[in-house]
Amino acid sequence: SVEQQNAVTREELGHATWTLLHTMGAQYPDRPTRQQRRAATQLIASLGDVYPCHACAKHWREVLRELGPPKVGSGVELRSWLCRTHNVVNQSIGKPRFDCGAVERRWGSQGGSGAPAALCGSEGGA
Ligand code: FAD
Repeated sequence: SVEQQNAVTREELGHATWTLLHTMGAQYPDRPTRQQRRAATQLIASLGDVYPCHACAKHWREVLRELGPPKVGSGVELRSWLCRTHNVVNQSIGKPRFDCGAVERRWGSQGGSGAPAALCGSEGGA
């Protein structure tokens, strides 16, 4: 059926979500405003409520309880927190641990100067 053709697997959903989180980390500012810190914290915490793989959402809430709230004080902090947290998930599902020293090579880092052209075009707009 159409629904089956469009069905998103747990793996696809996870891969897409980690891509979002790590690319967000890559362009997160070195000196975020209070608003930016709150927004990042809420986005990450909200996955525990709205993430559409419900077993994963429950697992995410447990991981957040265990590791504490996301570290959103700077880009370096957030990238490191995301890497460690992703590794906790990796470990719990038998995936290899990722070297957090390789995060920048894998996901880039714009040092707070905004998203790269490949994501947003040179104008940075729609
Ligand atoms: P992914 O884990 O999706 O990673 C994508 C890419 O990120 C990798 O190819 C690698 O290049 C890079 N990467 C890997 N580790 C790191 C790291 N530590 N830091 C930075 N980059 C890294 N699946 C379950 O089966 N059970 C669950 O409970 C579960 N909970 C999840 C909770 C959340 C919030 C999310 C986002 C996903 C969850 N998943 C869960 C899905 C799971 O984490 C994977 O996304 C999925 O298994 C697909 O794996 P993948 O091999 O494509 O690589």
